[in-house]
Amino acid sequence: MSLRILVATAAVLLGVSPAAAQFPIFDAHIHYSRPDWTAYTPERALSILAQAGVRRAIVSSTPDDGTLMLYDRAPAGIVPFLRPYRTRDDMGSWTRDPAVVAYVEERLNRRNVYRGIGESHFGADDVEAPTVRRIAELAKSRNLFLQCHVDETTVEKMLVAYPGVRILWAHAGMSSAAATVGRLLDRSPMLWVELALRTDVAPDGTLDPEWRALFVRHPDRFMVGTDTWTTSRWESVRPATAAVQRWLLQLPRDVAEQIAWKNGERLFPPP
Ligand SMILES: [Zn+2]
Repeated sequence: MSLRILVATAAVLLGVSPAAAQFPIFDAHIHYSRPDWTAYTPERALSILAQAGVRRAIVSSTPDDGTLMLYDRAPAGIVPFLRPYRTRDDMGSWTRDPAVVAYVEERLNRRNVYRGIGESHFGADDVEAPTVRRIAELAKSRNLFLQCHVDETTVEKMLVAYPGVRILWAHAGMSSAAATVGRLLDRSPMLWVELALRTDVAPDGTLDPEWRALFVRHPDRFMVGTDTWTTSRWESVRPATAAVQRWLLQLPRDVAEQIAWKNGERLFPPP
């Protein structure tokens, strides 16, 4: 048992926060959508992130104004992604809606702050849909990431259909196995993976051996995340991030540092 794990374990047993053993966190999956605005002021949302140890975060929101509210108050800490949803109703229809293209282009042109487009949801049948194609072209021409909440079949189709586009795979496909994620990472240098909501990476707090081996093999391709997909989830930012800290401590330090924050800092250098 390493000293770091010993210290963390002792701290947990004593019921105190293991502050000295914590990594700074780059959180690759935060939303600040309309229902959140009345429950949490932008200042309160930023303070929740800071108290959880989140140094910087990728934020996208429905509508996008939520992201800009946080960004304008903390430009050094917020990495804005443009979500292609004006309202939640767009979630099911955006892939074939030309008005979504107009919305995305208008927002990209209005503020030169975005580092990616997404998070967006779609399926394998939507990969060639016109609005997905146009957004992939925008991502390529403007050097933006696409954050895609899609299954493994769909992410593979995206990598083939749009080879010049950097893809941030939300939730590692939500249920894809470590072996599948590893195969896709081996095959494509344009794929990065974030682990929001993937508590199965460390069931009962212990890092799963297959995930651990994959993190060691591809330490430069993973980021952690929380996903405040519904307002009540803001109350989980601290405990969820603390749970991530516990499994990060079970990795070699250089691997843990990359996944905790260095990959985010490298891919999205502060402006
Ligand atoms: Zn999400």
